[in-house]
Amino acid sequence: MTTPLVASDDHLAHDGLVELLAGREVPCFESPQRAIVIRQALLATGTYELTPPTAHGPDPITAVHDPEMIDLVEHAWTDAMAAGRDPGRPLLPDTFLIREYAGRMALDQLPPRRHERLGAFCFDTATPIVAGTAAAARAAVDIGLTALDLVLAGAPLAYGLCRPPGHHAGRNLIGGYCFFNNAAIVAQAARDRGAQRVAILDIDFHHGNGTQQIFWEREDIAYVSLHGDPAGIYPHYSGYASERGALEGEGFNLNLPLPPRTDGDAYLAALRVALDFIVSFGADAPLVVSLGFDTYHADPICNLGLVTDDYARIGSAIAALGMPAVVLQEGGYAVDALGANAVAFLGALA
Ligand SMILES: [Zn+2]
Repeated sequence: MTTPLVASDDHLAHDGLVELLAGREVPCFESPQRAIVIRQALLATGTYELTPPTAHGPDPITAVHDPEMIDLVEHAWTDAMAAGRDPGRPLLPDTFLIREYAGRMALDQLPPRRHERLGAFCFDTATPIVAGTAAAARAAVDIGLTALDLVLAGAPLAYGLCRPPGHHAGRNLIGGYCFFNNAAIVAQAARDRGAQRVAILDIDFHHGNGTQQIFWEREDIAYVSLHGDPAGIYPHYSGYASERGALEGEGFNLNLPLPPRTDGDAYLAALRVALDFIVSFGADAPLVVSLGFDTYHADPICNLGLVTDDYARIGSAIAALGMPAVVLQEGGYAVDALGANAVAFLGALA
C-alpha cells in the first residue's frame, strides 16, 4: 500500500535569498532544496504516491488568520514593486511595532503600503518575502488540506510536503519562515468538518508559538510540543512548560522543552508523555503532526542530538497510537540528511 505524498512545485519560487541571523546576513536556511531532497528520497522508495494538491479557496485560511494579516501576505510584494523596490532583494521588516512602542497610547494607524507594515505583523528578521511567497504559502495550505481530505477518505496516513512551513505563524503574526499556519488550518478544518476534538503533535525542534497562540483558549483543539528549551533557543519568548493555555483552553496546551544535545532515549521518554496526553485528550479526528527534522544532531541552527534511526523510533511510537495521521512538514535544515530522516520517520509511521 502506498502513502500519499502531497506536494507541488509552487514552493520553488519562494526562495528568500537571505535572512538576518545574529547580526549577519546569511543565506536563507529555509530553502527550496529542502523540499526537493525530501520528495526525491521518498519517491525513490517506491512506496509513496505523488499527489498534487487541490485548491480549497480562502475560507480555511480566514478561519484561522485575521484578514489584515492575509492581506499583508498576499500584497506586500506587489506594493513594494509598485513603490519601486529592487525585485532582486527580499522584503524583510526593519521597524517593529512592539507592544512598548504604543505603551498606553491607542495607536491605530498603519502605513497604507503593505510592505511598510511588515514590522506590525512579523516578529523576526528571518522571514523574507519574495515574488513567489504568497502563491507558495497558499499552495502549502492546499497541500495540508488535501492530505486531510485523503485521510478523512480512508487513508491511514498522508504526508503533506508543505513549504513554507507554518507553525510559527499566529492569528495575526508571521515569522520563523512561516506565513500561513498549515497545521492550525488543517486542525480547524477537521473541526469544521465534524470532529469534536483535534490533537496537534509538534515534533519540530522549535516551539510552535503560532499554533499555541491560535488555540490558546480552546478546549477542542489540543496542542502538544516537544522542542529545544526556549531559554537558549529561538523563538525565545514561548515554549516554557508553564504555558498551559487559558480560559476554556487551560490544560489543553502542553510544552515539553528539552535540553541541548537530548539524545534518542531521552527524546522518546518525553514523546511518551506527549502521546499519553494525546490519548487522554480523546481526539476523534486524525492526528495532525507538525514534523521537523531540525532535531537532527547536525542541524546547523539547532542543538538536539537525534540520529536517523531515532526518527524510525519516533514514527513507530506515534504509529502505536493507532490514529490516522496527517503529517505536515515544518523545519529541518541539515539538507543532506533530510531525505534519509523522512524515509525513516514516515516508513515507520506507515
Ligand atoms: Zn524548526
